[in-house]
Amino acid sequence: MPHLVRHRLFFGNISDAAEVLQKGSSEITHVLSLLSSASISFFSDWKAEISIPTKEIRKVFFGDSDGLLTRKALSPEKLLYSLEHAGPELKLVRMAVPLRDTEDADLLDYLEVCLDFIHENREKGSVLVHCFAGVSRSAAVITAYLMRTEQRSLEDALESLRESCEFICPNDGFLEQLKMFENMGFKVDTTNPIYKRFRLKILGQFYKQGEKIDSFVFGADPGLPLESSIPDGEVSEAVQPTKAFRCRKCRRIIALEENVINHEPGEGETCFNWHKRKSSHTYDRSDETECSSIFVEPLKWMTTVEEGALEGKLSCIHCEARLGYFNWSGIQCSCGSWITPAFQIHKSKVDISTV
Ligand SMILES: [Zn+2]
Ligand SMILES: [Zn+2]
Repeated sequence: MPHLVRHRLFFGNISDAAEVLQKGSSEITHVLSLLSSASISFFSDWKAEISIPTKEIRKVFFGDSDGLLTRKALSPEKLLYSLEHAGPELKLVRMAVPLRDTEDADLLDYLEVCLDFIHENREKGSVLVHCFAGVSRSAAVITAYLMRTEQRSLEDALESLRESCEFICPNDGFLEQLKMFENMGFKVDTTNPIYKRFRLKILGQFYKQGEKIDSFVFGADPGLPLESSIPDGEVSEAVQPTKAFRCRKCRRIIALEENVINHEPGEGETCFNWHKRKSSHTYDRSDETECSSIFVEPLKWMTTVEEGALEGKLSCIHCEARLGYFNWSGIQCSCGSWITPAFQIHKSKVDISTV
């Protein structure tokens, strides 16, 4: 039996969902499935005798979405979700989101479509959120939902959910991402340094798995005229002066302050210790005299990165001056910190100005 978490919001495992989808429900009208395969055949993979009538409404891929969502996409062909009518007389609406229950799985990039689905459809009927065991994935999504709608901290939301179902236990990777969600103000803000560090880590895993890194995922080239460097749908906050890093030789802008992925000087793999960070404004904390380099997100002018090598030089796209180095498996900064993956610009090769 699905557990009632809030008015018109249920939580369950795959058996609960299969029962609702096979027999229909007097209450539940919408089902959110979080499973490693979003394919509609997963119920039959699980138990051969189960068949559920379905009719596809649409499939949405990361590349289909607006500018804000494409900022999140690692590959435009990746499925964001599929939507279908299902169950007796095709009366239920089911959204399936591909999410594995592993610590390195990317929850953040799927979170907002899930939360919006729950929110919109609780106004129309009742929503069942389920995964396979009803312990980690669905609990993570409902926790985020309680955080966003009730402005609760992660700990508070988890505790509240445990009152409805005591056995919930999102995996540690999900908990870390939920903490980031809290620190970003209960949203997935693609311009926030917390999100940028997270995304770079996911990109590093993607590279490690042998996936081709498309320049599609790189940050806009800040050296190009402003209108084309702002992704569609993203509001530019560049009204106030922002720090720019220019090639010392030809003065071309190669990075903006917002492209910098900061680290605490002298610490270990601080790039990964984002859960320790309370504030998103960490720029001024780093001691600039200690680090001889800055580390940035991969940017569209880094054509050598696009060629797929593990490491290589970063040269100015205008004058070809050597600016730095990149290495997917990491580079040690002069302060001792390891940055992984690393896109390093030597401070001696750039000048700082405001734009
Ligand atoms: Zn450093
Ligand atoms: Zn140059």
